Amino acid sequence: MNPSPHHAGHVAVIGRPNVGKSTLVNALVGAKVSIVSNRPQTTRHRLLGIATFPEGQLLLVDTPGIHREQKRAMNRMMNRAARSALEGVDAAVLVVEAGRWDEEDTLAFEALHQAGVPVVLAVNQIDKLRDKTALLPYLQKVTSDRDFAGVHPISALKRKGLDALVPALLALLPEQPALYGEDEITDKSQRFLAGELVREQLMRQLGAELPYATTVEIESFTVDGAMLRIGAVIWVERDGQKAIVIGKAGTRLREIATKARLSMERLFGSKVFLETWVRVREGWSDDEAALKTLGYE
Ligand code: GDP
Ligand code: MG
Repeated sequence: MNPSPHHAGHVAVIGRPNVGKSTLVNALVGAKVSIVSNRPQTTRHRLLGIATFPEGQLLLVDTPGIHREQKRAMNRMMNRAARSALEGVDAAVLVVEAGRWDEEDTLAFEALHQAGVPVVLAVNQIDKLRDKTALLPYLQKVTSDRDFAGVHPISALKRKGLDALVPALLALLPEQPALYGEDEITDKSQRFLAGELVREQLMRQLGAELPYATTVEIESFTVDGAMLRIGAVIWVERDGQKAIVIGKAGTRLREIATKARLSMERLFGSKVFLETWVRVREGWSDDEAALKTLGYE
């Protein structure tokens, strides 16, 4: 029998783009439910990462970062997703990069402050700090005039500091039984995750050339015995971009498909047969209607 109370609830993971929010969600869940790259705007959707512990269950709401740029429909959609993630959460974790605090961090903090939820500050990427003595004055500075329910230096990448972060978050959640089954790790379908894993490779391999011009649509997803058969369409905005995605003699597309397939096999625990096509649809990232049909809300 476990005498200590069980806590469960929703925790929004907030911060500027590229600080390591999705890396943190994956580290806590123990699987790659949210895609990660070194490009901002990798996370485009709100996604739940479910992390189950004996003491409680964290329902981590991963979000696109809050952006200043509101010009494109895609950016407006991502800001809406980030802000709406705050509705109905019990707590939030604000992720920042150790040694750094800029305008976008302030923007994120203020969004949380307005929402009135308790905020734990996760100072991420401490593995990159060369001068460890700089951490203390940094922590003092960023917390001096801001109210946090706790402050935790962590490395999401190296999984450092998480043992202390987890109970600090659980303590802010209501006492209640688990809201999801022990074996559930996300609220998204395998079909959705498959599309994301293709997009992850696009961001990683071609992010510098095609930052916002690509998206992925899963056209077919069927179970064939022990194997998953998946057909993915990579949407680009121009013919020139199509040529970049395909690469010389198709080498780039093959590399994207191979790595995406391996990630799918790891996440789904089954063999995957993946087919990919590249198609052109002009202006999709600035067209609200096109975004809807491609699964963005
Ligand atoms: P997000 O945009 O906030 O979701 O950031 P991501 O999780 O996609 O991470 C952005 C980049 O930062 C990726 O290249 C990650 O590998 C890297 N990153 C995340 N956490 C850490 C960390 O603790 N240490 C280091 N060195 N890199 C990290
Ligand atoms: Mg992310």
